Amino acid sequence: MDDGAIGLLEKTSSLEAACLRAVRLQERLDGLLREAAEVQVQLSRADGSIEGIPHYSTIEGQAHELGRQLSREVQARQMNELAALQPQTAKCPDCGTRCELHLHRREVNSIDGPLPLQEVAAHCLCCRRDFFPSA
Ligand SMILES: [Zn+2]
Repeated sequence: MDDGAIGLLEKTSSLEAACLRAVRLQERLDGLLREAAEVQVQLSRADGSIEGIPHYSTIEGQAHELGRQLSREVQARQMNELAALQPQTAKCPDCGTRCELHLHRREVNSIDGPLPLQEVAAHCLCCRRDFFPSA
């Protein structure tokens, strides 16, 4: 086998591994969502928020709130991952001075409600201003 064929095999193997990982993660997520739904139903009976035969709007409202909670959790984690990937410094957009970056926590009002986010910020000593490289 020549180098080209070996390289092709390695690429194919790497793609198959990535595909298999994605399939396993999707199966895991599907299972976790089913479990979360089951726990939500049990919780609603245990805390009395759903008793007897409720109106469908009550069931729908509780389910929707769980979806919003999951959305906020995903948004916060995605932003934390992005913040961790940022470089250590960035140039000030005004004067071009290279400034150290630090993590800045702030509350954001997403379409699914408020959540705390970590984002990268810097303070330029020359301009005496803060800036957000990812904005
Ligand atoms: Zn500056």
